Amino acid sequence: MTRIAVYPGSFDPLTRGHLDILQRSLGLFDKVIIGVAVNSNKALLFSIEERIDFIREATEGWANLEIDTFEGLTVDYCKKRGAKSIIRGLRAVTDFDYEYAISLMNRKLAPEVETIFLMSSNDYSFVSSTIVKEVARHGRDVSAQVPEHVSKALLNKLSKGK
Ligand code: ADP
Repeated sequence: MTRIAVYPGSFDPLTRGHLDILQRSLGLFDKVIIGVAVNSNKALLFSIEERIDFIREATEGWANLEIDTFEGLTVDYCKKRGAKSIIRGLRAVTDFDYEYAISLMNRKLAPEVETIFLMSSNDYSFVSSTIVKEVARHGRDVSAQVPEHVSKALLNKLSKGK
């Protein structure tokens, strides 16, 4: 049996924290599908194509990884792709309440799909796409938090006209 997991998110944009979770989850499953949510309840800065390109460039040559997009509920996407696990990252304490609620709801919707939480690594426990965008908006370098090509794209997009 091939163990497939979906790592869903908005990835707006991809951070080194996301990459860390992705790399570690690849050690646990036969295949990981990174599912980029087409729509999000967050205000998105980058288009779906840009968000995918960031991931593609950062993960070039990584085995057993597929990059895909999805719309709708994560559990429905998991069923469609034959995935029995959802990977989520947990930072500090702030993510817990929200992630716990979603995982309980997902279990109600699809008891056969298990949510697996990976704790963020020390270096990235305070890294979020939102914070990175805020810092880049003020023209500051964020290459410690995001891959180099993402940092450039952020500065390009956000500090234009400043
Ligand atoms: P979403 O809109 O689904 O929260 P995100 O792109 O913000 O999408 O995050 C996707 C997943 O990655 C979530 O499980 C989130 O908790 C996790 N994540 C985000 N940043 C980090 C980080 N620095 N360390 C570990 N996990 C993270």
